[in-house]
Amino acid sequence: MQKLIHELTNILDAQYILLEDQDKAPYLTDWRKRFTGKALAVVLPCNSAEVAQIVKLCSEFRVAIVPQGGNTGFCGGATPDNTGTQIILNLKRMNQIREIDTLNQTITLEAGCILQTVQEKTSEHGFLFPLSLGAEGSCMIGGNLATNAGGTNVLRYGNTRDLCLGLEVVTAQGEIWNGIKGLRKDNTGYDLRDLFIGSEGTLGIITAAVMKLYPLPISQWTTLVGCESIAATIALLNLFQKRATSLLTGFEMMTRESLELTEKHFPRLANPLKGNPPFTVLIELSDHESEEHVRQLLETILEEAFENRIISDAVIANNLSQANAFWQMREHITLAQAEEGANLKHDITIPLSTLDSFIQKTDQLMRCKFPGIRIINFGHLGDGNLHYNIAPPLGSDPKQFNENHEKEIHDLIYSQVERCKGSISAEHGIGQLKLAGLRSHKGEVAHNLMLTIKKALDPHNILNPHKVVSI
Ligand SMILES: Cc1cc2nc3c(=O)[nH]c(=O)nc-3n(C[C@H](O)[C@H](O)[C@H](O)COP(=O)(O)OP(=O)(O)OC[C@H]3O[C@@H](n4cnc5c(N)ncnc54)[C@H](O)[C@@H]3O)c2cc1C
Repeated sequence: MQKLIHELTNILDAQYILLEDQDKAPYLTDWRKRFTGKALAVVLPCNSAEVAQIVKLCSEFRVAIVPQGGNTGFCGGATPDNTGTQIILNLKRMNQIREIDTLNQTITLEAGCILQTVQEKTSEHGFLFPLSLGAEGSCMIGGNLATNAGGTNVLRYGNTRDLCLGLEVVTAQGEIWNGIKGLRKDNTGYDLRDLFIGSEGTLGIITAAVMKLYPLPISQWTTLVGCESIAATIALLNLFQKRATSLLTGFEMMTRESLELTEKHFPRLANPLKGNPPFTVLIELSDHESEEHVRQLLETILEEAFENRIISDAVIANNLSQANAFWQMREHITLAQAEEGANLKHDITIPLSTLDSFIQKTDQLMRCKFPGIRIINFGHLGDGNLHYNIAPPLGSDPKQFNENHEKEIHDLIYSQVERCKGSISAEHGIGQLKLAGLRSHKGEVAHNLMLTIKKALDPHNILNPHKVVSI
């Protein structure tokens, strides 16, 4: 391995090849602190040519590479294994915006750009880059593409996949595929772009992308609404979809238990709705017409919802800081869970038509089997995406509880997901966390096709091995 390290110094300045334990440490553990690995080195290239040379070299030496962006992923995809033979290739130095094309309404940018920076830069040009998620201050576009991240705007603008028009990718052979095109139509055979998006670094290393931009809305109104049942929250969603149509840009659900946990760790973010109702929904409308237009529309829909007894309470944010506080309540649930200690996460999607049945049945089974557990259930309800997370009973040791019950809890919840024809990963991906369950969830045919693709594109299995699929 000394020879490989030596040859790396022909590609990168020594300061960008981290070899000492204390320098590598920040890159070795995932955000949730569930996985820690070892690495031969952490390398920090600054352009696509350097990435290509590194991959070529690693391919020759048959050394595995773990691509890494902001390291905020929830499935351990960016964490190396324990052998100490893998190289982490972190893209943070590749953070240039190559072009903002205002006519084509696109941005061309490198994989290491931080999501929040992209939002800010595009907004300076009068455009909206709609991808938005709790980790936006640290996650990177390459990571967002590699995980096909979702977030809070999927309802209106789609996943990261839907926002991407073109990619530049370094293949497992160390070639650069230049698919940097800002085309909204391009039916020229197999869609390579779609193959790399969501592949979690197992098929290629994304080095740059062309992403769609949208006009900035003139006005946004945010409201918090209380519902007594999950069926009522779905009826409310359908009402908003019917009346507000494309103006509906956010529809997030939070259960009472989720907001109790947030308040415990962040008291300033207590639910302003009276009595913290069983289900609180955060709704956002965005309009390109006028403030009055959207405010009036929002009030009319809420009135109808009150009249039809779909909602029991509502607070409309009167200014930007109140709207931000509502969003923070939602985004701090994940942070409150991290403060509370280890928990078991389930990022799932269920069709809206069976969501009520899923929650009722799963809640009942879980509470009966594990008395005292706390079900921290919240999520992007507009997409049928729940974060159905389990915290141990108060007073019990989270690590011990998880060790004893993790498999049983996952099996129970995922069997209900299958019953309701849902997915075991809505937006967080597979990584190493859900590797074992993928085969049975996808079925033999789909799983074998995935293996065939992996073997064809990465025959020496050097790109993020044992993540997503294991060959
Ligand atoms: C507080 C918080 C809130 C979150 N909310 C959401 C949410 O609402 N929706 C959501 O979808 N996710 C959410 N996440 C998860 C996470 O932020 C996303 O998965 C994000 O897209 C990961 O980006 P990253 O740059 O941190 O990638 P990393 O964690 O560094 O990597 C993730 C995966 O992508 C691969 N990868 C990274 N960069 C590249 C590249 N350039 N080329 C090829 N492969 C690469 C890695 O190998 C790994 O498999 C949240 C995380 C946190 C901490």
